Amino acid sequence: MLRLRMHTLVTCAGLATHTAAASASTSSMLQRPWFTHGSSLSRDRAQLLAEDQDAALVSGVFVPVTPAGESFTLISGDDAHSLLELRHADLPAAHLDVEEWAWIGCRPDGQHVFAVEMQEETGRAAVKVAGIEVDVSPLRNVADGIACPDDAAVLSTARGILHFHRTHQFCSSCGAATKAYKGGAARACTNRDSCGARVYPRVDPAAIMLVTSPAEVDGRTHALLGRKRAWPAGRFSTLSGFSECGESLEEAVIREVEEESGVRVRKSSLRFVVTQPWLFPQSLMVGFTAEAEPGQPSGGLPEVRYDKDELEDCRWFPRDYVRTRLVDHEGDGGISLVADTSGTPAEEFHIPGKVSLANLLITQWAHEVGPWSPETGGSNFESPS
Ligand SMILES: [Zn+2]
Repeated sequence: MLRLRMHTLVTCAGLATHTAAASASTSSMLQRPWFTHGSSLSRDRAQLLAEDQDAALVSGVFVPVTPAGESFTLISGDDAHSLLELRHADLPAAHLDVEEWAWIGCRPDGQHVFAVEMQEETGRAAVKVAGIEVDVSPLRNVADGIACPDDAAVLSTARGILHFHRTHQFCSSCGAATKAYKGGAARACTNRDSCGARVYPRVDPAAIMLVTSPAEVDGRTHALLGRKRAWPAGRFSTLSGFSECGESLEEAVIREVEEESGVRVRKSSLRFVVTQPWLFPQSLMVGFTAEAEPGQPSGGLPEVRYDKDELEDCRWFPRDYVRTRLVDHEGDGGISLVADTSGTPAEEFHIPGKVSLANLLITQWAHEVGPWSPETGGSNFESPS
């Protein structure tokens, strides 16, 4: 019998109450970084390995993900985009094999959460899962609308871990088939006699940085924002880039900013802010703030000479301008502006939605709330008591 329910991780109701109570403060406008692992879920894999695995599967819940690029399943008609959860008995027999699921975490009540790939649902906008019609949507497109941060984290993790399993079916050392082990935490080469290699999910670190002007110009502080040609009209964001082999993230910030904008960053001004898993497909975004070296002639904004292969535009934006644009659209569902869903004229200035760490970096600068932290920023970051 199908047991399907609207997802309610135990923290969600508490988070909603906590957030509402703090809604009057500026700091409460800052969300915790999206996709960070749900604070209510334990990732201590020993909890799974210490149990009878069959029993853990039977009592656990399964979050289905489709293998079609960035797609995943949601409950149909649910504006809040809650998780679709299945129970063991709802899964077709083909999905009960160890190769078809991966452990995500354990809830405080001991219930295990697994990701499961629904292979037969590829490439369709709406599908039936265990007899229920559900929507299939790219996670990046709908993540802003996910009401519970823990849901976003679980979906993102499910997508990332299943992508790893799908793309590492064969050993990169000897070419033999690999097999999942440790509850899907890794894959092992089946050629045990002469290889036996283990492979774990790879994470690619990338720096994302809000660069500000070294001093006020005409009484205003500025931030350096750029846009790529493929983005919706009017969207500007922080600069970002992957660290290269042998390069620290701090060095990546300095190199990427200069390469993309021609602006030199003052090394001593670099400040780490926060990290965010960005499993599209396997990145870890590391947020920084930094200050540009003074422009010439002294007192002016540093000259921007952006790389036209990388960017379509890159400019200094005054803080009061950005703040005004953010506040103007608060009624459209938050301070994150998404022109194509909020009714904002497409050509107007806007920033990426809260799904992006850029949103947090720009917003905290615009509202002068200081570096994000569980104490100063995301009032909804802490687990409710
Ligand atoms: Zn091998």
